[in-house]
Amino acid sequence: MNRSECDIAVKDSCSERVPGRPRWQMWRSKGLTLRASHPCPICQETEAEPRKLLTVVTHARPPEQIVRCTGCGLVRRDPPMSLERAAAVYNTTYYEQYEQSIGMTGDSKGELREHLRHRLQSVERRVGVGRMLEGGCGKGIFLEYARSRGWRTAGIEISESAGREARRKGLDVHIGPVETAPSSHGEADFVHMNHVLEHMIDPVSVLRRVRDCLASSGVAVIEVPNEFDNLFFQCGRILPRRVLVQPFPSTHQHFFSPATLRRALEQAGLRVDSYRTVRWRVGDGVGWLGRAIRQAVYMVEIPFGRAGNIEAFSGRR
Ligand SMILES: [Zn+2]
Repeated sequence: MNRSECDIAVKDSCSERVPGRPRWQMWRSKGLTLRASHPCPICQETEAEPRKLLTVVTHARPPEQIVRCTGCGLVRRDPPMSLERAAAVYNTTYYEQYEQSIGMTGDSKGELREHLRHRLQSVERRVGVGRMLEGGCGKGIFLEYARSRGWRTAGIEISESAGREARRKGLDVHIGPVETAPSSHGEADFVHMNHVLEHMIDPVSVLRRVRDCLASSGVAVIEVPNEFDNLFFQCGRILPRRVLVQPFPSTHQHFFSPATLRRALEQAGLRVDSYRTVRWRVGDGVGWLGRAIRQAVYMVEIPFGRAGNIEAFSGRR
């Protein structure tokens, strides 16, 4: 879908008025429910509400659409992407686009590196330096940094090109999906998944694997985007809809909020030790006015717990 098609689709999705519903709630469910093709991974409910605007924002194409579980509120792609399709999506082009779009793996401004340095120091204060496992390690940037601080590291990466690049750094990396990677039981002092869980087809079963890998005193740090519950997106109701449309088709299966991530962690048998929303990347905005609006919103989103990412420190329950 190109930009102009997106604009038309977004406009259409927002033009359906429901009598008695305020204009600002139009992008929400219109009170319709459907039977999803797969049950919710958190509460097993199959009834869901379609989210038409989110379907457009993420470029989801039929038969895929974005729905919200009526049981627990988890927003997810339905039907989910298959593992085979995911393996084909996370290729070299995916990483190139990703680096262009948000600078996550390239991190040209160093914002992510700084955020992760602080995170590792925080982990070391809790568990010292030991064995670390990273699910979705990309090109091994964080593993390499942890290794330089004395950690014994291992990683899992679905992208063959990114995984090979990590291996060239001498890192121990299993190339394949996190869901099917061989796991060690109770050996990891630190399990890290940064912006990975939202790509998983069954995030609760992946979190159970995380729990199984952890030593009894180990810590798991999970960060996911707070994609549609952050204050900037919520304020987007009054902005031109094209501002919300993502630059590339989303490959996310799930779109967590602080409440649904916490519920997923607890469902998997993890104890949530600390929990907050964070924003480590300022973003470029749309012109000077867009940047000014972003900065204004960002100043208030963290105190309200509505920043663009959710970070959870967890342990075995
Ligand atoms: Zn649910």
